[in-house]
Amino acid sequence: MTEVKLDRIGKSYGAVEAVQQFDLTIREGEFLVLLGPSGCGKSTTLRMIAGLESITRGDLLIGGKRMNDVDPKDRGVAMVFQNYALYPHKTVFDNMAMALKLQKVDAAEIRDRVGRTAEMLGLTDYLNRKPAALSGGQRQRVAIGRAIVRTPSVFLFDEPLSNLDAKLRVKMRMELQELHARLGATSVYVTHDQVEAMTLADRIVIMNGGVVAQVGTPREVYDRPANEFVAGFVGSPAMNFLDLRRDDTGRWISDCGSMVLASLPVDAGARQHVRLGVRPEHIEVSADGGAGAGEAGYRAEVLLDELLGADALLSLGIGQARLLARVGGLAHPVKGDAVTIRLNPAQLHVFDADTGAAIRA
Ligand code: ADP
Repeated sequence: MTEVKLDRIGKSYGAVEAVQQFDLTIREGEFLVLLGPSGCGKSTTLRMIAGLESITRGDLLIGGKRMNDVDPKDRGVAMVFQNYALYPHKTVFDNMAMALKLQKVDAAEIRDRVGRTAEMLGLTDYLNRKPAALSGGQRQRVAIGRAIVRTPSVFLFDEPLSNLDAKLRVKMRMELQELHARLGATSVYVTHDQVEAMTLADRIVIMNGGVVAQVGTPREVYDRPANEFVAGFVGSPAMNFLDLRRDDTGRWISDCGSMVLASLPVDAGARQHVRLGVRPEHIEVSADGGAGAGEAGYRAEVLLDELLGADALLSLGIGQARLLARVGGLAHPVKGDAVTIRLNPAQLHVFDADTGAAIRA
């Protein structure tokens, strides 16, 4: 198990700054996920760790040693690619044994290591098959197995599940969790899929435009997003945002005047304009007229209802304002219904309207 330190690492392609000042220590045995939209610099960061991309600025340390100029094969890392990158004419056994043969490991040990890894991954019966005769999930297991037999100090995964169908992705995700619990190796995993990030990660790094937007546990980034970008990126369906402006009496009014908050749950200082964030599952929806004594509610109309099964999504109109709410799928209000909604101040997020940074209580 090995610590990986990215000491203000950066990468430029000419004038394009693909990754800026990435500063993070990945702990021994940690499963770290790099999450963000396409083009945010995730793969470039991973490839710099792997040695497949040169590092423009900063230092990369693996197990305390500077690796910037070390050959990829000598870094103690193994990478699993999205497209599996298997040799089509070689059997599963030979695909898995390849790197060990190149390292001149003796044949008995190769048989032993490949055999044990195949057993761990449920591939024992397929060792003599070629990749074309395997399912997508089995191919990805071979790609993972090929990394495991090398007993690397660090595993690097580049969107390894994105070529699989939805059902298989869920299964492989669980297999990866079990595998990590068993091997305990430091892992860096790139994905644009927030569900993968939330379920696999010890910590998530959310990137935006080559910059680290937040580093935290799945709970932290979900409950306490550091900025509007993270708040909007993590969570599905996404958080609702409303522009609020302060009026002469100190109340906060939504853009079209349809929502009025007597106060914010945080101290906004001298700001006159903020962005309010509320997650769909934090909007309490009740049948119209249900407003209890003393509880401020807003009258809303259900513009659209979508049953997902266990849950339903309601598109709500409060005057001109629009909010998406997630409610239980049983006996939910439907399109055309008048409802009352309430927002719990403890579940509201407030962001600076200019910088997008979270304003904390
Ligand atoms: P992600 O993996 O998050 O989708 P990448 O790390 O692949 O993003 O890319 C980050 C940025 O760097 C993008 O703007 C991309 O266009 C740019 N980029 C990546 N590779 C090259 C390259 N070889 N030459 C020029 N620009 C590149």
